[in-house]
Amino acid sequence: MAVRKIVMHPADILEQECKPVDVFDKKLTKLLDDMYDTMIEFDGVGLAAPQINIDKQIAIVDVDDQHGTIELINPEIIESSGTQSGPEGCLSFPGLFGEVTRPYKVKVRAQDRKGRTYELEAEDFLARAIQHEIDHLHGILFTSKVSRYLDENELEELTEE
Ligand SMILES: [Zn+2]
Repeated sequence: MAVRKIVMHPADILEQECKPVDVFDKKLTKLLDDMYDTMIEFDGVGLAAPQINIDKQIAIVDVDDQHGTIELINPEIIESSGTQSGPEGCLSFPGLFGEVTRPYKVKVRAQDRKGRTYELEAEDFLARAIQHEIDHLHGILFTSKVSRYLDENELEELTEE
């Protein structure tokens, strides 16, 4: 278990399509565990492999204890519906927050660390976090979807909530 270094924007690895995972071995398990340590260390609710300089379709999301840590390997959004708008940030853009509109609900198909395919339905903030991380795997950054950046006062209100 180890905390990895986060790649900050701008960096090519953050803006390219990641490769699918086809080997589910101990190295992958170690990587997922390191991603978890890194996400916790930097107080994130999700982390994608390119953010630690690995161009593979691997992401984790952990928004609350109820859902725990969700491991998304080769994830695909197979259904989405509704819309939601809310503030978003990213560990690769420290201190930057903006309002992003995304589908409210998604259905995702992905593989777990053993290569088993599963499906997951998520809504609201969890759906937002999952979509943000899946975007990373395709080189899409949240800044390309921000409708409005939030200033310091608005940020303070958010952190006080
Ligand atoms: Zn991000």
